[in-house]
Amino acid sequence: MGAVVEKGKESSVLVSTQHVVQQALRKLGYKEEMYELLKEPVRMLTVRIPVRMDNGDIKVFTGYRAQHNDAVGPTKGGIRFHPEVTEDEVKALSMWMTLKCGIVNVPYGGGKGGIVCDPRQMSFPELERLSRGYVRAISQLVGPTKDIPAPDVFTNSQIMAWMMDEYSRIREFDSPGFITGKPLVLGGSHGREMATAMGVTICIEEAAKKKQMGLAGANVIIQGFGNAGGYLAKILKERGANIIGISDAYAALFDENGLDIDYLLEKRDSFGTVTNLFKQTITNKELLQRPCDILVPAAIANQITRENAHDIQAKIIVEAANGPTTMEATKILSERGVLIVPDVLASSGGVTVSYFEWVQNNLGYYWSEEEVAEKLRNKVVHAFNNVIQTAESHKIDTRLAAYMVGVRKTAEASRFRGWI
Ligand code: GLU
Repeated sequence: MGAVVEKGKESSVLVSTQHVVQQALRKLGYKEEMYELLKEPVRMLTVRIPVRMDNGDIKVFTGYRAQHNDAVGPTKGGIRFHPEVTEDEVKALSMWMTLKCGIVNVPYGGGKGGIVCDPRQMSFPELERLSRGYVRAISQLVGPTKDIPAPDVFTNSQIMAWMMDEYSRIREFDSPGFITGKPLVLGGSHGREMATAMGVTICIEEAAKKKQMGLAGANVIIQGFGNAGGYLAKILKERGANIIGISDAYAALFDENGLDIDYLLEKRDSFGTVTNLFKQTITNKELLQRPCDILVPAAIANQITRENAHDIQAKIIVEAANGPTTMEATKILSERGVLIVPDVLASSGGVTVSYFEWVQNNLGYYWSEEEVAEKLRNKVVHAFNNVIQTAESHKIDTRLAAYMVGVRKTAEASRFRGWI
């Protein structure tokens, strides 16, 4: 489950995503009509989900499912449970999924779902009823060859299991390929749970090589201590990095001599909260401005903005969260020579291993952990080099380059299908 840090200004996320997609399509030589097609999801479903709460009352929740574009193949992307989910955010996130799938070259278009709810305030049985209710509400639109959900912020393998079970009951046959991020015993893949963090790690290694820096001994700050941030801290520490800062939704911990990551992982709750156990904390804002070699925003959107971009001291920023750096901040940082590995590249490990999970479900044949890890590495290293080369050859920032690489396949597929 992901940690959520401070409330983001989500309304601007869709607009800024559209802007970069438009720039990318122009650079690729497409006419405005291609942008008209790709600026919004082709399908957007809003559902109301009545759920019997433990006290006997009925509460009605709002849910969304966006399918950005299905020219390449079925749509794919996670479902988030969060009180601040909005229609615009889900739309933008579905566009990001199209970009991620294009960047790592997996045969999907982007999709995304969300339910406006606070899982931290709900019991297990309430969460189960909500998860099953959501699947019943969207069942006509989704499926293993149509749209394949997965975990996202505050959803996990248990929720995927309930959803898979509900879908299989509706269809009256076992449908493991309906959803990814399942527990291993229900057709999940080795390496899926750590996949986002592994993808980020591979990007960090490649970015460090590019800056002629070693990972061993590098000072790293990670904002967020949920699924991505927590696993990432563990993996990086094992590889010799010095984790000097972490944070959760409420505060941050910083120690220039390095934090005891094993202890913090043991103490955090399932939402990634741990700072409440400490007296000496700093704010998330302060954490971002502390000196370090590598900064990994792994929480929520709009954390690095034009207000604080000048104060960031990292040499490399690897975006494990979706949309942590605004366009203005990207410009400021790129001009200062900071290497930004953009979200749509850095966080593509999750959907990559989800693709492997789906392939294994379709085959009914399962791969070893080593096989999954090697296949993931190949895809992410290739994607990283592709984005960096595009940035260098077009003399553009890495975000625009990633969007160019990411949108190309969907645009081409839409053209070949005769849509545009
Ligand atoms: N929610 C994850 C993401 O945003 C994973 C999506 C998936 O595995 O389909 O990339």
